[in-house]
Parts: sequence; structure tokens; C-alpha cells
Amino acid sequence: MPFADKQLTCVECGGSFTYTASEQELHQSLGYQNEPKRCQACREAKKARMGGGGGGGGGGRGGRW
Ligand SMILES: [Zn+2]
Repeated sequence: MPFADKQLTCVECGGSFTYTASEQELHQSLGYQNEPKRCQACREAKKARMGGGGGGGGGGRGGRW
């Protein structure tokens, strides 16, 4: 099934952002089921806030163990 760009609203700043087809494809290939809740800027800001580096595996709770 082809993906299409999607307009989503950021929960953080309330702005709309594009969830691009290629992102959707990537997320699906990674097994992510949830749509992103934040725009790119807020995601970057959040990442920076978390101190960078970190134990990896961000996003998608549960994962495989
Ligand atoms: Zn935002």
C-alpha cells in the first residue's frame, strides 16, 4: 500500500507538521505503530533535553527483549 504525506498536529507546540510518506514507510519497517506526536523541532528539543546519547532504543515502548 502506498503511503501519502499526512498532516498531523504537534501535541507540544500545537503546530501542524507533515508526517511524510517516507517517514511512514520507515516507521512501518521498524515496526512502529504509532504516529509521531511531535513536530521535528519539538522532537529535536526533546532529544536535547534528554541529554543526548542515552541508552538508545527511543520510541516504541515494549520493544523486544
Ligand atoms: Zn511542535
